[in-house]
Amino acid sequence: MATTPVFNLIVSNSTIIVSQLRQGGFRRIDLHTQVASTAANVVTLLTKQLPHAVVLEARLPDSDAFDLCRRIREELGMTELPVVVVCEGSISRAAMAKVVASGCDEVLSAPLSRGQLYDVLADYLGLPRRSQLRVNVLAQVTARGTFVQLRGSVYDLTVSGARIRLEQPFVGESPLTICIESSAGQELLLNGTVVWHRPYASGGELAVRFLDVKPELAQQLEVLATWRLDQQDDVQVVTLQRSLTERASFAGLAEQLKDKVLFDLRHLTLINSMGVSHWVAFLREIPEEVEYSFAHCSVPFCTQASFIPDMVGAGRVRSFFAPYFCTACDREAERELKVGDVTVDPALVPPTQLCPSCGEEMVFEDIPERYLRFCVRPKPQF
Ligand SMILES: [Zn+2]
Repeated sequence: MATTPVFNLIVSNSTIIVSQLRQGGFRRIDLHTQVASTAANVVTLLTKQLPHAVVLEARLPDSDAFDLCRRIREELGMTELPVVVVCEGSISRAAMAKVVASGCDEVLSAPLSRGQLYDVLADYLGLPRRSQLRVNVLAQVTARGTFVQLRGSVYDLTVSGARIRLEQPFVGESPLTICIESSAGQELLLNGTVVWHRPYASGGELAVRFLDVKPELAQQLEVLATWRLDQQDDVQVVTLQRSLTERASFAGLAEQLKDKVLFDLRHLTLINSMGVSHWVAFLREIPEEVEYSFAHCSVPFCTQASFIPDMVGAGRVRSFFAPYFCTACDREAERELKVGDVTVDPALVPPTQLCPSCGEEMVFEDIPERYLRFCVRPKPQF
């Protein structure tokens, strides 16, 4: 039987945070949570036992979460401990500077989407994420002591872990040796421990957390976890994986691009400011003669691009998801739109959409002049 590790968290006494702990993959792991109502409580708990991560609400009764984060880094010397802060509403630029200075790893602004906290922590804790996106690599799993070899496909690869769908039942035990074979023929050898195991009639699914990943291997994993390149007729399709964060790596991609490139951004749901700067730097590396465009842009991508025009570089947006809201039945819906669906003149007006539940007309849930700004750029050539 595989041993499953326990994940210890210290969290603020906030209904938003506590309700997130019941969502996403949290239900499938052995989670031990300590709730602290004040900054002083957090410090006391930290001095007793080092958790895997700390999740704070921005305003604690006796301190600001960013001041507390600075204390955690500077006074307690816990520089590696992941600290996530949940704010109410949006974050101003001045506040963002404070966030960066505090040394906090991630800031989420409420309301949070379902399972969002899990997805963020998964990156830091080496937990499998919920997306179904497959990395086109194969895994060979060898359980120590049993020398049994199993083949499977890797899903949701991150630098710290992966989900592996096995073709045969899993009979081994933790720790494991995993050989990940990329589509480019590269083989990465990793040691891992099983976080959970779900048997199926034929095969099973393993969530694996990697152990002692050496820097060179981490760089190769970062690349595999960031993008995938496929050729479709005369177009190169680059599919971005789920997250664009400080761990995103586009190493080796720009030089492979020629003629026509389409970026598929439908899976991109987690973006932070460090990820944005990696992405913008990558777009600048693309040779001038390459013509590129973006399809199925996710709402998080569009939201970032509405503030930072460099997110689309010299490219054109073909299609994108837009947020709508039904005031009649209180339901949110994302709709995929083509740039041509948007009225541009005399003002940017999104197309009317009806609610899938009650049939009433929904309202566009962002500022059209900001969210739809990329629609006024020239249309893509292909
Ligand atoms: Zn409705």
